[in-house]
Amino acid sequence: MNDKQKAELKEKIKIEIENLKRTVEELKETVNPVTPDAAIGRLSRLDTMLNQGINKSSISQSLDRIMKLGNALSRIDDDPFFGECQECGELIPFARLIALPESRFCVDCAE
Ligand SMILES: [Zn+2]
Repeated sequence: MNDKQKAELKEKIKIEIENLKRTVEELKETVNPVTPDAAIGRLSRLDTMLNQGINKSSISQSLDRIMKLGNALSRIDDDPFFGECQECGELIPFARLIALPESRFCVDCAE
């Protein structure tokens, strides 16, 4: 990977992290505890609680991805093996890194 590609990848990761953080903030607003409000009604409250469960797992998935992306971001500069498949040592295609910066395996080994 050349310096230009590294810079492009880092930029892409930063944008991705920002987007995920925004998503997490939005989701957090939806998982505030349901207040027993007669105006909502029992059924929609149940509905809200169900959605909150889904949103909570989305939040933890997003936080997990933010962590992995942050990890990849620091590895671009610090890890001389960044961009190589950890299984077979082949270079991971740049297009794959752009699509999935946190991937540590080439397409073949990831399967
Ligand atoms: Zn591989």
